[in-house]
Parts: sequence; C-alpha cells; structure tokens
Amino acid sequence: SATAPVPQRAALIDTSAITANVRALREVAGGAKLLAVLKADGYGHGIVQAARAALDGGADYLGTAVLEEAFAVREAGITAPLFSWLAAPGSPYAKAIGQDIDLAAYSVAQLEEIAAAGDAAGRIPRVHLKIDTGMWRGGSTLEDWPGLCAAALALERAGGIRGVGIWSHLACADEPDHPSVAAQLEMFTEAIGIARDMGLDPELCHIANSAATLATPAAHFDMVRTGIAVYGVNPLPEDLRGGSPTLRPAMTLCAAIVQTKRAPAGAGISYGHTELTETETTLAVVPLGYADGVFRSASSRGPVQLAGGRYRVLGRVCMDQFVIDVADDDVVPGDRAVLFGPGDGGEPHVEAWAEASGTIPYEILTRVGSRVPRIYL
Ligand code: PLP
Repeated sequence: SATAPVPQRAALIDTSAITANVRALREVAGGAKLLAVLKADGYGHGIVQAARAALDGGADYLGTAVLEEAFAVREAGITAPLFSWLAAPGSPYAKAIGQDIDLAAYSVAQLEEIAAAGDAAGRIPRVHLKIDTGMWRGGSTLEDWPGLCAAALALERAGGIRGVGIWSHLACADEPDHPSVAAQLEMFTEAIGIARDMGLDPELCHIANSAATLATPAAHFDMVRTGIAVYGVNPLPEDLRGGSPTLRPAMTLCAAIVQTKRAPAGAGISYGHTELTETETTLAVVPLGYADGVFRSASSRGPVQLAGGRYRVLGRVCMDQFVIDVADDDVVPGDRAVLFGPGDGGEPHVEAWAEASGTIPYEILTRVGSRVPRIYL
C-alpha cells in the first residue's frame, strides 16, 4: 500500500483552492469588494498562508476578529487593507493604528478610546461603525446610532478618526427567505441613510457573509466579507446552492494507520465498550483524536476513507486515536485514512463530519488541533 510523502498525521492545505474560491466569489460579488475572513487561524488553514492565497485570488481586504490575529498578518509582512472587529476596552489600539489596521467602533466610548489611541500613535485611525441590525450581538442599537454617528462626525472633523465604513452582520443569511434577512437589510439601509444625512461619507458599507454573498445579492453593498466559502465550504442548504459557483474544499484531514489486528466477535471496542464487534473482523487504529479536533460526539459515526473503501468510527473517539472496523479488506499499517477532503478520492466532505459530530463545518475546521501539522500543497 502507498505510504504518502506527508507526515503521518496532517491537514493538507490546498492554497490554490483558496485562491480559486476567492476568484469565484469575486465574480459573484460583482462590483463589490471582497474581504477574506482570516480569523481563527484562517478557519484552521493557517492565517498567513490563507491571507496570501486569498490575495492571489484578488481579495481586496483581509479581516480578523481579534487584534492578535491582525498583528500576525502584519508580522508576516502583508500590507493589504486589514479590518479587525472585536476588541474590548484596553485593547492595543495604538499598536493596531500604527500598523494601519482598520478598527470597528460599536459605541461612543469605544470610538473615543480609538481616537485617543490615534493621538498617541500620531496617526488617524480608520474606523468602521457597527450597527446592530437585529442579531443582538455587538454594535450600536438603532436608538443609539445617531449619537454614534454624531460622535464620529465630530471626531472626523477634528481630525481624530476617519469614518471609512458602516457595517453589520446577518443572523440568518443561510436562510435567505427568513424574514430577518430583509428586516436587517432594511435597517442597515436606514442606518446608512441616517449617517449620510448627518454628513458622514463612508466609502465601505458591508453586511454580507458567505451565505449572503451567495444567496442575497441585495446584501452585497460595497464589500462582502466571505469566510467559510473562501475555504471551499458552501454554507447554504443543498437545495439553495444552484446559483453558487463551484467551491473547492481546501483542507484534507488525514492520518496513517498505526496498527491493524484481528478481533473476535463480541470484542468491546474503545473506552466504555460502547460497541462490540458483530463478527470476527480486522480493526485499524487511526491516530487522530479529540485533542486533534476529531469530535468525541462523532463516536460510532464519523466517516473515514481508505483506499479500500468507506468506514466509520467504531466505539468512542479517544484523545489521540480512534478505531475503525475494516472487515476483511486489505488495510495495513501506514495506509492513509482520510477523514475529509475535497472528495476527489471519494473521501467525505467536512459537512459529513459536521453532521456526525452534531455541529457545523466551521467548528470542525477551526478545531483541527495545533498538534496536526499543516502541509501546504
Ligand atoms: N463577518 C463577520 C463579522 C464574521 O464574524 C464572520 C464569521 O462568522 C464573517 C464575516 C464570515 O462569515 P462566513 O464564514 O459565514 O462567511
């Protein structure tokens, strides 16, 4: 059996898939700019490599949740426009402003802290004002919005900030007919109107994530913020993917089989003996466990592809390993088991692991552990 020239446990990252996905998403976005979301280590793919691949595909902007992630992008020498949107009071705003990182302001207090940090840094911070249009997460309420706009305008006129953007986030973008989508877009438009009427002139209004980019053109505005689709996963339910471009999953999670052995009928497998072999059979040990991001909730369910065929987790997923039943198939130690990938070799998609784990592909991708080497193709 083939032993691949890759580490025994690996997340193979096809950076050309990221590049191609961004190119395809830019087409979908039409005239709108595209921000590639890089948070959570580029959804597990490696933040710097994902950033470079996305820029190769024509990404106009990069985005991270927390500032540490944005600093990692800058430390790699990447100078592209970069927006970071999740920061508590006392965050290192001056450092961010010094590195030309666009910041989000959710409140007047935050705006003032950012302006003060800009003073300290000797540079005018670029700020995107956040309106909460109905997700009830971060951002200004519509009630507080005129006050936030007034503060932004006063600071802008005093040279304390530059109001470059107005943005929001959709709660149900993967259900484009959910009434909240239209309601949020309507409130977003209203908030932009209020800001403009007051004299602000934001160049970038943005609200769309991947699902809205793919399913709701009215949500595109000046820029879309695509995350999961950049990495090749379509967040829409299957029956709504008709208009989507082909996206190529960028990550393949695989590991070489450690051992195979025969077991009699009735053998209790793994912790708790939650499953017994039904007949005499061959067991194989896969060296990936919940510490590597193989969810324990995928016990008895998670699918695995080997050259010989498709198997599933037998018994419980352990911290570092799990067992599969390969029956009488020709499987030997060193054979590569693929948990998920683009599907070229018949391997499962990450969606299948999400389903087996009782979660969403985002959580599977972002939980692949730091102990699993990323290998860039
Ligand atoms: N914009 C913001 C503010 C986000 O937090 C995220 C991630 O959840 C995205 C965009 C990208 O979302 P998606 O990965 O669904 O495209």
